[in-house]
Amino acid sequence: MCIVLKKLGVKYIPISYYVTEYIFIPLETLRFFDDIDPNKYRVFKDSEELLYRNWPTPLVRLKKSSIDDKVAWAKLEGFNPWSMSVKDRIGWYMYRKAIEKYGAKGPHLLVESTSTNTGLAIASMCSIYGSKLRAYIPSTVSVTGELLLKIFGVDVVRSPKPLTVDLIDEVEDVARREGAVHLNQFYNDANLEVHLRYTAKELELQIREAGIVPKAIFGGLGTSGHMSAISIYFKNRFRGVKIYGVVPKLGTAIQGIRRIESGMKWIHHVEIDEVIEVSPDDAVKGVLDVVRSDGIFIGLSSGAVYHAYRKMAIDGKLDKGDYILIFPDIGFKYVEQISKYI
Ligand code: PLP
Repeated sequence: MCIVLKKLGVKYIPISYYVTEYIFIPLETLRFFDDIDPNKYRVFKDSEELLYRNWPTPLVRLKKSSIDDKVAWAKLEGFNPWSMSVKDRIGWYMYRKAIEKYGAKGPHLLVESTSTNTGLAIASMCSIYGSKLRAYIPSTVSVTGELLLKIFGVDVVRSPKPLTVDLIDEVEDVARREGAVHLNQFYNDANLEVHLRYTAKELELQIREAGIVPKAIFGGLGTSGHMSAISIYFKNRFRGVKIYGVVPKLGTAIQGIRRIESGMKWIHHVEIDEVIEVSPDDAVKGVLDVVRSDGIFIGLSSGAVYHAYRKMAIDGKLDKGDYILIFPDIGFKYVEQISKYI
C-alpha cells in the first residue's frame, strides 16, 4: 500500500526538471505511533536525539487571543531546538536520507537555497556529522537571518533575486560543478514524508489528548511540505476538517511563505479548502496580537497564520469549535522587521 498523491485539477506549474505527477510514499515508511517516543525526564544522549525525542512540539490553547467561541490551539514549531522552527524536521530527515545514500560520514559539502530556517537546520546536522553547508539566500532575507547562518558556520551567498525558489537552478548547477549535495527542500519528498510521519501524526495524538476534533487547520505555505502532509493526513483520518493555506499578498514578501504561483511541488496534489492572502503589516499585527494577549512571541509567518484565522473568525466565516494554527517559528529572529511597527 502506498500514499498516492494525485493532481487535483489545480494548474501545475513546473519550475524545474524534478517534477513528478505521482509521489509514492509506502505506508510502512510512515509506521504507526511507535516512533513518537517523548522523553519524559528530558535527558538526551546527543543533540540529534534532542530533536526527535523532544517531539511532539507543544500544542497550546490560546486562551486570550482566541476569537469568541472559535477556540484557537497553537502548535509551536519554534520549540524545535536548532533553527527554532518547523524546518528542523526536514533538515534532519533530508540529511538522514542523504546519509543512507552517501554513507555514514554524510556528504562533504552541501549547497541549499534557503530563507534561513532550513539552512540553520541543515547546518546543525552538518555540525553533528562534520560536513559543510553553503547557503544561497535571496535578497529578502534579513541581516539577522544572514548573521544566524554565519554563526552556525554556514558560508552564505546572497543573491539579488527575491525568492528562494529563484535560486534553485543556480544551486543545482553549483552542486553539479563542485560535486556537492543539494538536498533541495522544494523537491525532496523527504520533506513531505517527515511531516506525514511525525508532524501530522503527533498532532493527531495531541488533539486526542486535548479531546477535540478541529474544524480547520491553518498554516503557511513555503515549500508546502508541512501543510500538504497535514492535509493528506487529516483529510484521510478525520471527516470534514478544513485546511487553510496562508500566503503573502500579491507583490509582498513574508519570510518563509510565498505565493503558490511561484511554484510549489506538493500543494497541487492535495486538497486545500482555501488559500488566504495576508499582508506583511497584518502579519506583524498578528505577532503583536498573540504576544500581547497570550505572551508567546511568534514569527512573522505565524503572525500571518494567526491573522488569517482572526479575520475569518471576525468575518463570521468560522463556526463555533476548535481550530489548529501551525506556528512555524519564533519572533526573536524578526525583531529587526517588527521594530518598524512599534
Ligand atoms: N514559516 C517559516 C518561518 C518558514 O521558515 C517556512 C519554511 O521555510 C514556512 C513557514 C513554510 O513551511 P513549508 O516549507 O513546510 O511550507
